Formats: sequence, structure tokens, C-alpha cells
Amino acid sequence: MTLDLPTSLIIAGFTLAVASGLMLFSWVLLRSHKALGQWGLAFFMGALAIALFAVRGHIPDVWSILAANTILAAAYGIMWKGVRTFEGRPSAPVIVFAGAVVWLFACMVPEFYAWPAARATLMTLIGMTYSLLAVAELWRGRTEHLISRWPIMVVLAVHAATLPLRIPLASAMGGPGTGHAALLAFVMFEAVLFCMCAAYLFVSLNKERVALRYEQTSLQDPLTAVPNRRAFLQQAARIIDRSSVSGRPVALLLFDLDRFKSVNDRYGHSAGDETLVAFCRVAVGQLRPTDLFARLGGEEFGCLLPDTTRTDALGVAERVRVAFEATTHGAADVPFVVTVSVGMAVADGSNIDLPTLLVAADRALYRAKQEGRNRVEPNSLAALCSLAESRAALSAREGDKKFG
Ligand code: GH3
Ligand code: MG
Ligand code: MG
Repeated sequence: MTLDLPTSLIIAGFTLAVASGLMLFSWVLLRSHKALGQWGLAFFMGALAIALFAVRGHIPDVWSILAANTILAAAYGIMWKGVRTFEGRPSAPVIVFAGAVVWLFACMVPEFYAWPAARATLMTLIGMTYSLLAVAELWRGRTEHLISRWPIMVVLAVHAATLPLRIPLASAMGGPGTGHAALLAFVMFEAVLFCMCAAYLFVSLNKERVALRYEQTSLQDPLTAVPNRRAFLQQAARIIDRSSVSGRPVALLLFDLDRFKSVNDRYGHSAGDETLVAFCRVAVGQLRPTDLFARLGGEEFGCLLPDTTRTDALGVAERVRVAFEATTHGAADVPFVVTVSVGMAVADGSNIDLPTLLVAADRALYRAKQEGRNRVEPNSLAALCSLAESRAALSAREGDKKFG
């Protein structure tokens, strides 16, 4: 069985229309994701262009050649615009429609317009340029870890690479020989595959981003933008497990702002909020990128320092305390200063778990408050070990009760 050109075009056009509908439907569900609407429009225009190609001979050439290719070139430009929108970058209309404009100008040259291979070459170049520009945009945004980003880049690059195969087909329009029949079948197969894969992957790119944003939101404190308690507990447990295996020390610092209630009472809740944000900025400024800092709740913050000895952890805590004390808050006419108390516990790489470390640091923090605030109070290793032993004994007793 051999495919004739109009039948192949109808199949490709129909596939594009279905792909367009799929993307427009997803856009209706995720209206804030404008890129989906732009891709849906681009694919719809592609389907329209192919429909015009398919009825060539039955309508004037000005529609099936001039208008159809103008629409197709604009469709490629809009597809590229969709990728720019997805990456949060603006796109100048002059670039979006440059391909269509170049095509229209070229058609004003009669020799070009009468030469199918020249027309196909120009359209191939336009399609390749926009497809490869779209790949470049997706590559630029690769720091956002979306798995679908990679297959869509491959699909677009393969599409760009196979576009030149349309040039020999255009030359043989009207009666392809056997060789061209095989080529036509391949080109149509690629077109259908491209439409379905691109539509699916464009939609899944957006879905993945939505899921990623939800996950990030669930792990981030909305006021200060640092990790929240849930993120802290998850990541800290992993860090402590690693240090148990490597035998390297790990330190936990618990910060609690001093007399914070009176800050709210005297200067207002929004000044209090700004102070919390300022504390995070000051603390993070004193830490290494590998340290885990989080807001545990209210005006309490936690910091886990991997590979850190007791002496180094004391140094870090003291640096944060001093830097925060030196920070002025509030408006210029009513400046105020807030201090912080710090409780510290260090595990020397032996079998200490996160709950034990948290209880030990919390006890040290309580002492820091008792002894006058604005100070760093460490928990001794002996206290930490006896705490761990008593917790282990308690859980063993509970286990005995359960199974005994
Ligand atoms: P201490 O020195 O003993 O820690 O005294 P404190 O006043 O800081 O202690 P307490 O825990 O009693 O008060 C914490 C206050 O933090 C109470 C609450 O109004 C305030 N707070 C908690 N979360 C927020 C927040 O998101 N924004 C603001 N502005 N205040 C908050
Ligand atoms: Mg508190
Ligand atoms: Mg407090």
C-alpha cells in the first residue's frame, strides 16, 4: 500500500488538530499557564495550514501555497513563543512573525514562487530555526528540574533534523516515484509522531511544574522563604543518618528570638514579621551552603551543621548571635534591636538520632533563656549520651510492653 500526498496530509492535519485540542483543553483547566494556550493555537494553525495543503488543486494556489505556508511559519513562531512564555521570558512579535514575513517577502519574487524546491527549502529553514530556538530556550531553563524538559528537547531537535526531507518531496509533487513514496511515508510518520509526542510532553511539562510548585510550597515557609519545619525534619534526618555512617560530627543549633512578643506589642505585627525575615537573612549570611537552616515555627529556627565540631558550631552560633544583635530594625524614627538565644547540641558521629538531638538542643536553649537570654548555651556530650540512653531504654520498655 502506498500513501498518496492528500491522504497523508489529511492524516497529519487531523493528528495536529487532535493534539491542538488536547493542549487547549489542558489550558482551559490550567488557565494561568498561558504557554499551553499558545502551543494549542500553534498546533491549530499547523492543522489549518495542512488542511489547505491537502486541498491543493481544488482551491486557488494563493490559499494552498501562499496563505498555508504563511500560517505554518507563524505557527512555528507561536510554538517558540510558547516555550519563551513557559520559561518566563518575553518574546518580541517581530521575532514571532519574522518567519511568516520573510516567507511573504520571498513570495514576491516570481522565480522563487514558481520553484517548489526553493519554497520547501525556505519553509524548512524557518521550521528548523524556530524548533532549534525552542530547544535552546528549554536548555537555558534546565536548572528547573523537570524530567519532561529532556524528551521534548529531543523531539524538537529530531523534528528539526528531519524537516529537510521535505525538500526532495516538494520537487516531486504531483507524482512521487517509489523512492519518494517511502520518503513520504517516513515524513508523514515523523509528522504524526512529532505532533503527538510534542503535545503530550508540552502538557506534561506544565503538569510537572504545577506538582513541583506544590511540593516546594509545602516545604517552604511563606513569610521568610526558608525551609519550614517539615522540610527541616526530612532533610535533617538524612544528614544525621549520613553522619552516623561516616562517623563525622553534626551540630544542631536552635534559635529563639528574645522577648519577641513585646516586639509585636510595641512596634506592630508587621515590624515583627520584618524582624523574622531579617533574622533569616543574617543567619543564612553566616552559614555555609551545605548547612540546613529552617523556620521551625513562630520565632524559632533550627540549623543543622554537618561535619562540624563542637568548637566550630559554637563559633557559628556566636557569629549569628552577634550579627543579629548588631542589626537595627524598624523605621528610621523608631529603630529597635532584637537579640536571640541559642541552644546547641553536637553529636560526635555516634548513634544519635534527630529527636534526641532536638531535645538536647531544646534543653540548652531553655538554659540560655534562664540565664539571661542573648547567649549561646551548649549541651554537654555526657548529657546527650545519657539522654540518648534514657530514650533508648524508654522505647525498649514500650516495645516490651507491646510484644511481651
Ligand atoms: P522569650 O524570650 O522567652 O522567647 O520570649 P518571647 O516573647 O519571644 O516568647 P513567646 O514564645 O512567648 O512569644 C513568641 C511570640 O512570637 C508570640 C507570637 O505572637 C510571636 N510570633 C509567632 N509567629 C509570628 C509571626 O509569624 N509574626 C510575628 N510578627 N510574630 C510572631
Ligand atoms: Mg518561642
Ligand atoms: Mg522567643
